[in-house]
Amino acid sequence: MKIGWIGLGKMGVPMSEKILNASHDLWVYNRTEEKAKPLVDQGAEFISSPKDMLEQVEVVFVMISDDAAVEEVFAGENGLLSASASGKVIINMSTITPEMSKQMAEKCEAQQLEYIDAPVSGSVKQAKEASLVIIAGGKEKTVDQMKPLLEKIGKAVVYIGEVGTGNAAKLAVNAFLGIVTQGLAETIRFSESMGVDKAVFLNILKSGALGSPYVHIKSEAVLNDNYKAAFTLDHLAKDLRYAKSSGLNGKVGLATHDTFQEAISEFGEEDVMAVLKYLK
Ligand code: NAP
Repeated sequence: MKIGWIGLGKMGVPMSEKILNASHDLWVYNRTEEKAKPLVDQGAEFISSPKDMLEQVEVVFVMISDDAAVEEVFAGENGLLSASASGKVIINMSTITPEMSKQMAEKCEAQQLEYIDAPVSGSVKQAKEASLVIIAGGKEKTVDQMKPLLEKIGKAVVYIGEVGTGNAAKLAVNAFLGIVTQGLAETIRFSESMGVDKAVFLNILKSGALGSPYVHIKSEAVLNDNYKAAFTLDHLAKDLRYAKSSGLNGKVGLATHDTFQEAISEFGEEDVMAVLKYLK
């Protein structure tokens, strides 16, 4: 199968490698061309625009930052929607708003292109292990057709409903992620303020029912003072903005939204757990 991949950031590189390793012909596009080098070195071909890509391949994956990036890649100059192509499938795995997915799906439909929103739960480690959970919205028949391909990237493909529902579920997942991250950071600070050593506190958490895999991973980051991003604080702040604009209105959720927006300017490029440094 001829496949295209747009977006070679932290997630796009390991995910697209799985498609290439599954013996598909792969064309790649990234706004900043040099980031395509790891894929080109392994045999993928760089193509100079989303338009040219869609004319070349049968299925295009998109894994880019946000709504604005998606609008540009779809509807911008030499974007996907300017291609002379029909009957092809676009799988958008970016974490964006359900509204943006619905808009792009409508435009695709008008050009007889199929659109699936298929954001992922998991991070760079899971992308490298092909163990992401893929939450897919769109026509069930199209999702079923794409399942063998999606299973090269993820350990589970969950069909959730009409287009945009994948994005909706992903925003809820990341609202929880934000709340848990801030909760962990605040309680570390609280324990320290009472004179409890943070290594001891984290060990107690990890030994009990609250010791989720997430708490284990983030404890390590905190104890090593290592906030190199797998998932940037910037992206989580974006997801919390999208969650709020999609109706997140609980007290904890809104407070978390505010904290992450405030933390962006100093810690946006670092890992989400760097919110601990903001809360100092
Ligand atoms: P990233 O490393 O920041 O990469 C972002 C990608 O988007 C890059 O390829 C970038 O191109 C491209 N991009 C940004 N603005 C663009 C524009 N206007 N036009 C064209 N391309 C544009 O992000 P990531 O961590 O891979 O995340 C990608 C998506 O997956 C995001 O929606 C994120 O929320 C979601 N996600 C991330 C994780 C994670 O753990 N990292 C987990 C699950 C979901 P350039 O290289 O040219 O900047």
